[in-house]
Amino acid sequence: MTGTSPSGVRLGIDLGGTKIEIIALDTTGHTLYQTRTPTPKHTDTQQQYQHILNTIQSLVGDCENHLKQKNLPVGIGMPGAVSLKTGLVKNANTTCLIGRNFNSDLNETLNRKVALENDANCFALSEATDGAGQQQPCVFGVILGTGVGGGIVVNKKVFIGANAIAGEWGHNPMPWINDKDLPKQTCYCGQHGCIETYLSGPGFEKQSHMQLNTNLTCQELFTQRHASASAGLAYTLYVERLAKALASVINVLDPNIIVLGGGLSNIDTLYEDIPKRWGKYIFSDEVNTKLVKNQFGDSSGVRGAAWLTKV
Ligand SMILES: [Zn+2]
Repeated sequence: MTGTSPSGVRLGIDLGGTKIEIIALDTTGHTLYQTRTPTPKHTDTQQQYQHILNTIQSLVGDCENHLKQKNLPVGIGMPGAVSLKTGLVKNANTTCLIGRNFNSDLNETLNRKVALENDANCFALSEATDGAGQQQPCVFGVILGTGVGGGIVVNKKVFIGANAIAGEWGHNPMPWINDKDLPKQTCYCGQHGCIETYLSGPGFEKQSHMQLNTNLTCQELFTQRHASASAGLAYTLYVERLAKALASVINVLDPNIIVLGGGLSNIDTLYEDIPKRWGKYIFSDEVNTKLVKNQFGDSSGVRGAAWLTKV
């Protein structure tokens, strides 16, 4: 961890597949500076990796020049995780990072010790620190987007786990599966019927095409759910599956609050429809866990990266 600067200003960087974003927050979480730039692409992975390091370096330099401050603490959110065994990046969909000692290279590039963490953990930390879960001791943050990710924050600290995969529920099998959930899709991880193959945007779309013989896109399936019978059925199936998948997390972690993020978190009816359905799967006579939408939207990841520097 990088500690705090005399001014209390901290920088966060969110490294995504399409863009790299930087934010500067003051001690109260007020945004002092924020900008984004496209993620460099290159067919040569070594070149692309170097371009990413250079882009991060120039984003930090521009931000510090703007703020007229130097050597501010930096936290970085990235796809994937750092292996506790090797210190190298694993499980990243920005594949040029895989197998790199990204943390060490960032420390050298930025000439300081940076805090590096998985992007779903950054999302959960942002919402637990000053977002939708700020009053809650145990927050489970969920990303429902092109993939399905998750992060756990306990007492405003990221819970990393023994294998640096805590909260990564997307590649568990869909629980309480029945005929309505068949056929199972093959997942890129090598398994079948992973939660991600049902609940990510592309997974939901493909599952609906296979089962309901519809060609509607993910977005159309949700927006036309009251007008189209097949879209309505697809929505009902999505809600039931998300209820089952979240119930299995509640049965293990028992979080106070679950905060949804990612593109599918914008479907406002989920927050009413899922708690109506998850009770029958939760091993308790009452369910106190709340299900809420994120507070900071697209900015949660980069804000959580900045909060990583909080020691
Ligand atoms: Zn999988």
